[in-house]
Amino acid sequence: MKNVAGDLPETTKNRFRPARGMAAGIAVCALTAALSGCVLSASSVFAADKKKSRDVFAMDTYMTLTAYGDHADEAIDGAVEEIHRLDALLTTGSGTSEVGQINEAQQNSYLLSEDTASLMESSLLLYEATDGAFDLTVYPLMKLWGFTDGNFRVPSQEEIDAALGVVGADAIEYDASSGRVTFDKNGMEIDFGGIAKGYTSDRLMELFRENGVESAIVSLGGNVQALGKKPDGSPWKVGIQTPEEDGRYLGIVEIEDQAVITSGGYERFFEEDGRTYHHILDPETGYPAESGLLSVTIVSPDGTLADGLSTSLFVMGEEKAVDFWKAHGEAFGFEFVLLTDEGRLLASDGLRDALTSDYAKIEWVEG
Ligand code: ADP
Ligand code: MG
Repeated sequence: MKNVAGDLPETTKNRFRPARGMAAGIAVCALTAALSGCVLSASSVFAADKKKSRDVFAMDTYMTLTAYGDHADEAIDGAVEEIHRLDALLTTGSGTSEVGQINEAQQNSYLLSEDTASLMESSLLLYEATDGAFDLTVYPLMKLWGFTDGNFRVPSQEEIDAALGVVGADAIEYDASSGRVTFDKNGMEIDFGGIAKGYTSDRLMELFRENGVESAIVSLGGNVQALGKKPDGSPWKVGIQTPEEDGRYLGIVEIEDQAVITSGGYERFFEEDGRTYHHILDPETGYPAESGLLSVTIVSPDGTLADGLSTSLFVMGEEKAVDFWKAHGEAFGFEFVLLTDEGRLLASDGLRDALTSDYAKIEWVEG
């Protein structure tokens, strides 16, 4: 909890960085940085542009929403409502949420709503494409490790083996035409935590557009997505936070109509007997993924995909992640930035014009 307001979200990863020389912007930044999205607004420069910002706590994290233009006010109101609606739908802790009901329905089929159907489709697609690195059925393992209620502990191998018995999205029967889902195995449970924030920011971009907003940026616990360009016509600059969360950046990426989403083992973790255990699990072993990566950032126009892939590539590790990008980067439309535990910084070729780093020399990976 080291930043300004002393109450920083643990999932804060990406921050906006001031454009050079914008002293007024920097002051704004210092005040709002604690809420993880410091929009350096050009608003001080282009006073004619109406700007509306709002901080929200939802989905267990701090969020900052900013929209520009004449419709910014209504758009932000709508966005806040939408966040709370999705939060209530997707929260795992409650039997009344839709996800809670799906998990209670177990082997009885459950009819998904539009949002959960879309999340289910994305999750199953990711499961297939990533060879199971992304698996929405890891929830029983998340519970076992205490990540769901904060009662952290290292489970016994027997417990892990038992939980692994009900992990594996191939045991989900989902009929896309009817929207019905059924679990094949008793005791299975799902959780959209690996893509929920990306899905939410996608929805917010849609909502902004529908409201006539052309320029907006949101940070949902450090997961950033932007609509259009900054009001002054320049690209948004998003700083990718270091695992040390020391205020430095791994790099600065310039974006337009894109999401920048980071997964790292430093966000949510506990320590026991001198070892660190984090919240991104390897569905194969049932243990926190130890793939040699400290963080994975995905840049893509598709927030849901970016969120799912940041989790997935973190599980895969450098070699598989790079291969995955080579095989699917173009079709899926995404670029990556990886930080290895040796301090190497790798980035995919498509970011050459968008990414700079003072942190380390970038190793460019070509397709
Ligand atoms: P964060 O939500 O902290 O930004 P991620 O997007 O990487 O980070 O999502 C981590 C969340 O995804 C976990 O809290 C858990 O709910 C879920 N999860 C953990 N491991 C996996 C996995 N291998 N596949 C899919 N979801 C996972
Ligand atoms: Mg994710």
